[in-house]
Amino acid sequence: MKVGILGGGQLARMIALAGYPLGIRFIFLDPSVGACATTLGDHLHGAYHDENLLAELAKRADVVTYEFENVPANVAGFLTARTQVYPPPKALEVAQDRLVEKEFLNDLGIPTAPYATVDSWEGLQTAMQKIGYPAILKTRTQGYDGKGQSILKSAADLKSSWAKLEGLAAIVEGFVKFTREISIIAVRSVSGELAFYPLSENVHKGGILRVSESREHDSQQTKAEEYATRLMMALDYVGVLALELFEVDGELVANEFAPRVHNSGHWTIEGAETSQFENHLRAILDLPLGSTAAVGHVAMVNFIGGKPTSEEVLNIPNAHLHLYAKAPRKGRKVAHATIRTMTLVELEPLKKRLIALADEADDS
Ligand code: AMP
Repeated sequence: MKVGILGGGQLARMIALAGYPLGIRFIFLDPSVGACATTLGDHLHGAYHDENLLAELAKRADVVTYEFENVPANVAGFLTARTQVYPPPKALEVAQDRLVEKEFLNDLGIPTAPYATVDSWEGLQTAMQKIGYPAILKTRTQGYDGKGQSILKSAADLKSSWAKLEGLAAIVEGFVKFTREISIIAVRSVSGELAFYPLSENVHKGGILRVSESREHDSQQTKAEEYATRLMMALDYVGVLALELFEVDGELVANEFAPRVHNSGHWTIEGAETSQFENHLRAILDLPLGSTAAVGHVAMVNFIGGKPTSEEVLNIPNAHLHLYAKAPRKGRKVAHATIRTMTLVELEPLKKRLIALADEADDS
């Protein structure tokens, strides 16, 4: 069985690492020569819109998936005409555009922050009258990890934030005063089997995920599962999906969803019976899904821009290190580590040690 993946970064790499024991092999399409997944399979080296390469990918892979949501619609269309593509391209279409995504979520009865479209300087001022301060201005497309975003604290921030957009279509969102950020990693197979992981509780800094912890038996689990189910059914979804949520006054407000395996689900490698990566493969190959049950308590810490030495990390009891084989660069996720313990009391001090190492290595 061969799986084709658009993208050859760390997500593709962790999918491949999960697939090897099941006898699954991989072919990656990625424009960068040293893309970190490509040592684990065949590499079609070139642009995502190169139709010769896409045709070859479709021919050589039994099924094609992707590791990022900004796959151009015509690329997804070209592939679906030739082979199975999961998750379905409709999910890409919705997730790629923050305006379409928010409308889609609201139509399903899933609440989001209040928002307004911004197409012009005058439009921004009108939008701010509706949304009020503080707010966040975000490009409709191509934004991730806080990129293309600026916080509007008062009218004094409008001019510089508008200039930063460089004419790109945007939305402005009301700033959500959340008590915590959580995400639910859900999975649905070709046959329609559904499964959900225990919630992830997430901490971001500068728009980038820093720490995720598994939260078994969380009070918001049922509500989050219900929202993720609505979303997956509406999209006729296949594969892993991550829905990011804010908790506000005991209610859940959706931020966005990712039609792919997700950083806030990396803890599942050690902390769940079956990882999100393996379950993504099982789902798209129509194999029975594996149990999503938690195994102990887990915290995952990202190393961004730089990383400690392996020795420093592995000196911490119960630490598991995942290096992505990527050259360090400002703001780039280069590795993560997970701590798993049988009790929460044991987890806390070890997690703190790991976070301290990550903070030291962090360049931001
Ligand atoms: P995003 O790129 O939309 O996932 O945003 C990255 C992070 O920025 C989120 O995980 C939050 O920490 C923060 N953020 C984004 N949108 C909002 C909002 N409307 N209100 C408060 N915080 C937000």
